[in-house]
Amino acid sequence: MSGSPNFRCGYKMTTDVVALASELTDVVGPGNTFTGIEAAEYGHDARGVVTGPVLVAVRPGSTEEVAAVVRVCADRDLPIVTQGGNTGLSGGAQPIDQQASVLVSLSRMRELESIDIADSTITVQAGATIESIQNAAGRAGAMFAPDWGASGTASIGGAISTNAGGVNVLQYGPMRDQVLGLEVVLADGRIWNGLRRLRKDSSGYQLRQLFIGAEGTLGIITRAVVRLLPAIADHQTAILALPTLDAALPLLAAARSGGRTVVAFELLPEVGLGTAVDKFELQRPMETVAKWYIIARLAAPLGSGPTAMNDFLAEAAAANLILDAAVAATTDQEDNLWMIREMIRPVELWDWVGGYIKYDAAVPVGRVVEFIERVETLTAALAPGWLPFSFGHLGDGNIHLHVLPPIGGFEPAHRAALEAAIDALTLELEGTLTAEHGVGQSLLDQMTAQKDPLEVELAWRIKDSLDPDGLFNPGKTLPPR
Ligand SMILES: Cc1cc2nc3c(=O)[nH]c(=O)nc-3n(C[C@H](O)[C@H](O)[C@H](O)COP(=O)(O)OP(=O)(O)OC[C@H]3O[C@@H](n4cnc5c(N)ncnc54)[C@H](O)[C@@H]3O)c2cc1C
Repeated sequence: MSGSPNFRCGYKMTTDVVALASELTDVVGPGNTFTGIEAAEYGHDARGVVTGPVLVAVRPGSTEEVAAVVRVCADRDLPIVTQGGNTGLSGGAQPIDQQASVLVSLSRMRELESIDIADSTITVQAGATIESIQNAAGRAGAMFAPDWGASGTASIGGAISTNAGGVNVLQYGPMRDQVLGLEVVLADGRIWNGLRRLRKDSSGYQLRQLFIGAEGTLGIITRAVVRLLPAIADHQTAILALPTLDAALPLLAAARSGGRTVVAFELLPEVGLGTAVDKFELQRPMETVAKWYIIARLAAPLGSGPTAMNDFLAEAAAANLILDAAVAATTDQEDNLWMIREMIRPVELWDWVGGYIKYDAAVPVGRVVEFIERVETLTAALAPGWLPFSFGHLGDGNIHLHVLPPIGGFEPAHRAALEAAIDALTLELEGTLTAEHGVGQSLLDQMTAQKDPLEVELAWRIKDSLDPDGLFNPGKTLPPR
């Protein structure tokens, strides 16, 4: 089916589905194959925003079972959607409407297989949660750096497939920087064992990079080797009140000077901070009220105590880059700060925000303040009454911009005009419309504007060579040819 459009014909329901489920049960054993309402449950994303048609949901327990499931589907020319923790925010783990699919859930494949101290790596099955890997690393006196609000549920396979980021990307990079080796089940059911642990390997193409960020369109990741890092010897977290948003970038530069290591640098608006504190009965970290705050986490060499943070705050105050600051003195205070950061998403704060516009944009760090300010100008001009709400990973240019509609309803034309204008602004500033959540199905339409036609053509050539029949995750990630 090489060269065909992204969609394939439907599948006869009823007897065919029963026969399919029976064949899959032969592969994965009883109790791990689901049809009807139970299968439909797998077709919803965690937020209830995206739903797709699932023929059969199947939970293989090993790489060999995944490979056998793929062969069954390939023989019947049935599309496959892989699902990890189902915390993705782009509809990648749900079939598209036009393409009822077999859903392969990796929820039985959560084993943490081995830690290698000399190589500082951990080998895991793809269904293992990010949190379980963090905990295993901690028990071994090491650290697995990726971290975000869904770490308790998100799987390593899903994180690799979306090149996920989180609050520590600034210092440690996204998943692309963590993965040393992969095992992948290919479209013909063969198993590629690329489970290497090498930091250095110049032997030509690094195929694993193709599968990272591929959102399950090229194969099913079944196992991975990821890097562990030395645990942070000492660190402090502080919240800083900004005099103006323009202070944010000089403040980031000041934080990084003097050999200091900035692990996280997150932006919060007062409108969100104040609401989160009230709604979730959190502790307000300081009395000073500003329009914008930064939560910064600094790592420091062992035994240096609070020196790094204190020096930074003294320099920032002397340069008039902060109005006030509060350093977390206890673990509870630090948890309180990060809880405010986690709960600041509009869906957590307000129930009137239906119809909001949500972005996962990133622009070059040097242009992130310009991005926020120009969004405010565009909003006032194109959609009066709407509220731009920017927060998140300012330190790496990835702002989770939401634009919230006026209470009491909105004019659809305003929403459409604003969406198009903010997309255009992001691309004008040489940014991306998806920094860490992936394209999935939600952002597919926008990719045509973001991607060079030659890049799209090359991506399709890779897709055609690895998955010639379009088995894996059709209608996702790749813009139409
Ligand atoms: C509260 C909250 C906060 C979040 N914060 C962040 C954040 O700060 N940074 C960030 O990057 N993300 C964030 N996310 C998004 C999400 O957690 C990540 O994208 C995560 O990596 C998805 O992992 P998952 O296992 O849930 O994947 P799923 O949602 O199950 O799948 C995501 C995609 O990966 C594919 N896939 C899954 N497993 C495999 C596999 N084994 N092989 C091949 N393809 C596979 C799926 O087909 C789909 O296309 C957040 C989500 C929530 C709900």
